[in-house]
Amino acid sequence: MVQLSRSGSCRVATTQRRAGVYGKAGNLSRPSSAAIYGRWYDLRVDSGRARAYFDHNATTPVDPEVIAGVAATMRDEFGNASSVHHFGQRAKARLEEAREQLAALIGASPAELVFTSGGTEADNFAIRGVAEALEPLGRRHLVTTAIEHEAVLTTMRALERRGWRVTRVNPDRSGVVSAEALEAALAPDTALLSLMHANNEVGTLQPVAACAAVARSRGVLVHTDAVQSVGKVPVDVRDLDVDLLTLSGHKFYGPKGVGALWIRRGTRLLATMTGGKQERSRRAGTENVPGIVGLGIAAHLAATRLEEDGAAQTVLRDVLEQGVLAAVAETHVNGQGQARVPNTTNIGFAGIEAESLLIALDLEGFAVSTGSACSSGTLEPSHVLKAMGLSLHDTQNALRLSVGRHTTRDQVDRLIAALPAITERLRALTDRRAAIPGADRRPA
Ligand code: PLP
Repeated sequence: MVQLSRSGSCRVATTQRRAGVYGKAGNLSRPSSAAIYGRWYDLRVDSGRARAYFDHNATTPVDPEVIAGVAATMRDEFGNASSVHHFGQRAKARLEEAREQLAALIGASPAELVFTSGGTEADNFAIRGVAEALEPLGRRHLVTTAIEHEAVLTTMRALERRGWRVTRVNPDRSGVVSAEALEAALAPDTALLSLMHANNEVGTLQPVAACAAVARSRGVLVHTDAVQSVGKVPVDVRDLDVDLLTLSGHKFYGPKGVGALWIRRGTRLLATMTGGKQERSRRAGTENVPGIVGLGIAAHLAATRLEEDGAAQTVLRDVLEQGVLAAVAETHVNGQGQARVPNTTNIGFAGIEAESLLIALDLEGFAVSTGSACSSGTLEPSHVLKAMGLSLHDTQNALRLSVGRHTTRDQVDRLIAALPAITERLRALTDRRAAIPGADRRPA
């Protein structure tokens, strides 16, 4: 039961919280979203305004059904999935159930999925695993793009230090890499092409299937980091025609620290996490059964809600984007006009340092981002916007706004309404700074 306070905020009745005892993962009594999210989404800032979360590409709130499944598994299924006895076999059954749920979301066969500790590990596994397997065959070259996540870029740099050659292909001005540019980067000794499916900062979808067709025809393995597309748009490993695909639970309302690498049957790669024989000897270590169960439930929910969520978020994203462009002068959308994931927009605000805008918005109760979460808190220009050919100023003035399953029209309207005053104030400060001899109007 959910009680509405006079201010309209939801409070979970104590009885319901106490009664939050859930059955087995397959038989959950589902608490209402409002019951679980009531507290979280209606957090009050000091001024009395409700907070609104526009950073779903950094992470998503965990779905109540996932929380219930994780808690029930942690409590009831403590066995080690490798144990032969009853407790182990029960845990193993949960694991395989989750594998099937995840496989169904991406059109895979369950045996081809390897659970990992998240997207970063799956990216590392794909790239290092292929490199190690193909190095003895004389392959010493890798191709990727300049707009990948740090999990890919840093791994590529590490291999470069070990003597591998890496070619990084730039996207066009709208944030999309062309199949022609990638084809031109391939060499006779290229082992792997790693190309993300959706970019985490601007949301652009990359032509993975077209690029994969070119690369595979040249005997090059193809990996796609689909962390930002799985659960947002239909993803089918056969349609994408790749050999390896990375996904991560916390980007689609699942738990953090759990993800997977899909490996096409027969793909040559070596295990990078060595030890026991878990995951058919492809990834050693006792499985995180509760987390994996949560990933499976999140995958099942994503599969059933994909169309509905996508349609709703496209509307909200477009209202937000158009609303900001209309309300605030000298703004532009990065990646506009391209196929994008439905929840993401990246907007540049001329004359404003994005980090200052982020902080000002946070003080007003709006959580936004200036790019990938890993690099926020620094004034580094966005490597994605830089690769798209934007000026230094434009790589530092962009906000990433990402809506989600629980974003409301009211939250979007409030953000649009708040921006003119905040941006005016920040621009006035920048102008005053420019009036000081030697200071630049542009952020440092
Ligand atoms: N790849 C992309 C495109 C991402 O956006 C992220 C996370 O932001 C990752 C990989 C890393 O995933 P995880 O946080 O599960 O390690």
